[in-house]
Amino acid sequence: MADIPNGFTGFSHRDPNFVSAGDALRRSRYDETPFATRKQEQGVTGGWTPAAPAAPGYAASAPRPVAAPEVLQFAEDGTGAGQLRFDPEKLARIPETDRRWSWVEIDLNAIRHNASTVKHRLRPGTRLMAVVKADAYGHGAVQVAKTALNSGAEYLGVATVDEAIALREAFVNAPVLVLGEPPATAIPLLLAYKIMPSVYTAEFAIRYGEAADAMGLRAPFHLKVNTGMNRIGVRWDEAAEFARQISFHRALDLEGTFTHFATADCPGTIDFDRQVKRFAEAVNALRASGINPGIVHAANSAAAIRYPEVQLDMVRLGISLYGFYPCPEAYPLIDLKPAMAVKARITEVKTVPVGEGVSYGLHYRSPGAVKVCTLPIGYADGFRRGLSGRTDVLLAGQRFHQVGNICMDQCMFEVNLRQRHNFEPQIGDEVVIVGEQGEAAITIDEMADTLGTIQHEVAIGFGCSRMPRIYI
Ligand SMILES: *Cc1c(COP(=O)(O)O)cnc(C)c1O
Repeated sequence: MADIPNGFTGFSHRDPNFVSAGDALRRSRYDETPFATRKQEQGVTGGWTPAAPAAPGYAASAPRPVAAPEVLQFAEDGTGAGQLRFDPEKLARIPETDRRWSWVEIDLNAIRHNASTVKHRLRPGTRLMAVVKADAYGHGAVQVAKTALNSGAEYLGVATVDEAIALREAFVNAPVLVLGEPPATAIPLLLAYKIMPSVYTAEFAIRYGEAADAMGLRAPFHLKVNTGMNRIGVRWDEAAEFARQISFHRALDLEGTFTHFATADCPGTIDFDRQVKRFAEAVNALRASGINPGIVHAANSAAAIRYPEVQLDMVRLGISLYGFYPCPEAYPLIDLKPAMAVKARITEVKTVPVGEGVSYGLHYRSPGAVKVCTLPIGYADGFRRGLSGRTDVLLAGQRFHQVGNICMDQCMFEVNLRQRHNFEPQIGDEVVIVGEQGEAAITIDEMADTLGTIQHEVAIGFGCSRMPRIYI
């Protein structure tokens, strides 16, 4: 008890065999054995041990950088000899999943499968761009980029200059297109890191061309054409004139011409067809003016899968690279595998007397004969509060209702003992928030439906949170 910082020692009334989350956590910290194996060795019964591999990537969690000595002064021996009581290297080696029991698992084989499945549907000569913006929709841009490039992708798409720089700093050398026009003040970064911008204003184009020219460099870019989404781009009927206006600049290279569909994932095709027609007009007008449009591309995931005729020279694959179907129409057309799972371990199990409430507001009331289990994952980890009481989790291959408000860092679920006799959830048991366990599955799609949003937002919420990402 001495190591409990606030001196709280009020556990004496508890069962001597009681294992608190803290005890379990402390025990696990200095033990390299995967949790499930450990449980067997210790003869822990009840609960459910998943089939091997027990905790995929358990040891693969990235080690933390070793803290600088000045940061570790608090850990100095009291003798004033400047001796550290703890070995910083050992501290850094404690896996992130042993620091907090919740994590995101990314299956790079699924990314590989999705990239090559889409690649095989493309017409010969059509390139595949892996869209890895927003840290690859929460899946990790560098890992996904490298995997996709090894599975048929040739181009990378990002939203920001810094996202592109992060790829370069990880030694990713493929062409990278920023899917918007950055501020002109970022031009030196584009040139230094060989990053292509999308261009739709003459001012940016000229400043980009001049900056490149001054250093004896080329200034490659893709021309963004607005065909009806009305977000960014040169109007389709002004694209040729725009290209002619900036074409005098000798350093500028029109490497590609593209547009973006507003309704490729919607049932109707009238608006989609109009955008296709306008884009064809723009590209034809460029060619008629003697301007080579370069790589012509338009399709996002939905369009690439549903409308092979708009695959053109390249498709820009985002959501489907991660294993999500962009719309119900795509289900029969392609086989995709979700790459993201979200998991946690139980930190507390208790009986809540009938009528007592659980979590902020006490909106959930115990019906009696339930065990309430706590998980260390909350809305700060992307487990959206709007899902409170409206989602399930998986334990022992079965669904259990999440109950009470999802808190910032934790949430609760209930095991109804009337329905599951002799079922004893244990501290440390692995619970699936998103993913498969046995025959059961909980998908980001169903969460997105419940929330009235799209999978992108839910996946990014989990994947870009403070939870560690583990690659399997
Ligand atoms: C994000 C984005 C994509 C990828 O779209 P998905 O629907 O996720 O496949 C493609 N093109 C542009 C311009 C984008 O911004």
